[in-house]
Amino acid sequence: MIKLRILLTLGLLLAAARPAIAWGPHPKINSAARETLPPNSPLRAALGETLFVSLDRLCSLADWRRDVRPDFFPDDYLLFPASPQDRDHLVPEVRKTYAPFFRRTLWALRHETPENAARWMGSLLHYVSDTGSPPHAASVRGPLHSPMEGWVDSDAIRITGYTPRLLGDTDEAALQGFLARMEEVIAYCQVRGAKLSATMDLKEPRRNLPAALECALESARVTADVLYTLGERLRIPEPRGSTLQGRVLLPASGRKPEYLPEVGTHVVLMGTDWATVMDGDGKYEFRNLPVGTYRLGALHPGSTAAITEPVVLTEGKVRTRDILLSVSLPFAENRVRNADFALRWLRPDAPDAWRRLTNGYPERPPPQAGWQSENVAVTPGARYQVGAALRLGTQTRVVVRWRGHAMANMNVTEQEITNAAGESVTAPGLAKYLQILLIGDAADPSSLASRVWCVAETEKGYDPPVP
Ligand SMILES: [Zn+2]
Repeated sequence: MIKLRILLTLGLLLAAARPAIAWGPHPKINSAARETLPPNSPLRAALGETLFVSLDRLCSLADWRRDVRPDFFPDDYLLFPASPQDRDHLVPEVRKTYAPFFRRTLWALRHETPENAARWMGSLLHYVSDTGSPPHAASVRGPLHSPMEGWVDSDAIRITGYTPRLLGDTDEAALQGFLARMEEVIAYCQVRGAKLSATMDLKEPRRNLPAALECALESARVTADVLYTLGERLRIPEPRGSTLQGRVLLPASGRKPEYLPEVGTHVVLMGTDWATVMDGDGKYEFRNLPVGTYRLGALHPGSTAAITEPVVLTEGKVRTRDILLSVSLPFAENRVRNADFALRWLRPDAPDAWRRLTNGYPERPPPQAGWQSENVAVTPGARYQVGAALRLGTQTRVVVRWRGHAMANMNVTEQEITNAAGESVTAPGLAKYLQILLIGDAADPSSLASRVWCVAETEKGYDPPVP
């Protein structure tokens, strides 16, 4: 076996970087908000009671960015053409999430399965309630950040008797009302955040801070307003469209894939902001789409990205179109999605699931130009075959980056693949993810390689932890 060269070790000392307590916590803020909704809210009916309650968990979705879950890739609910990049969750940048995620959630409620709608709602609600966190509203980072949002009496987060506000009675009025309401939240929580950061003393023992509770209650009130307003929008009948549905058929090998056997395929409508994730039965569905011609794209680990022939939808008709995925090359169990860069739905200047190379979080420019794959989940100690079909005449280098956290810069090490045609690598003891880096100055990764791969050699099956 070829000996690998360890390039650099970035992050062993950063292992304690993940805050122990999240804001509120989020689930308490969300459940307080949920309880103010009238029993006949159309939102309850649209989601069903189980999914409605699951919003308490899903409202953490934006904190799962870049992670790999057994059932879905969180990024499939965080990145779309109207908002194609990661957003910071602090003011001012979090403001950029409001309009696209409000519209996207409303669209999901009207056109996607309840499960998909609940997940989009989870992304929106995360940005909403994160805004009210005192250090988020007052843009405070550093050692005070976690105590400012964690020193709160979470059992006291209750807004019983609060009447949720209707933020607008048309889609556009609701959006404008929502944006104005978020500015109220920022103003309310910013002064409290600034006061906390000026007066808190971290040498004192942890205690519940009244100003932090006030912000948590305001977060719950705005969450209630958003839930109520989205629900009221569902009372308005929409113009009659057409349903597009079908099955996603995985490559016929007669068995489930070993990597993420239950994960949903990301099914996108090319040239639009719209997409969905197939359910556990292998089905996808878009309800009441505007009539017209659509092409479907599909992304799934272990498969080559698929793009269908145009599908014509006519009014009131249900159109069934199955998507047949073909086996990824050169290995069936290639864990890298969009490994040959074929699908470009998210943005015109990069293949889906690929980003320009950056270092760390917050992101810094890297020492060299290049491209990085999305995270692939791995098991410490297991062996993987990693390689790339490099373009002739380029000086491309292939590097494996191991990560201990999907996003934070924890336990990050990099090793160069000396034989790009395929090499065995062993996941270090603290590695949870692998990324393939293509180092080279190119406007597009497809100029550096025609495809990459990562397949397990020793690991059978994989159960990622549920965050
Ligand atoms: Zn957050």
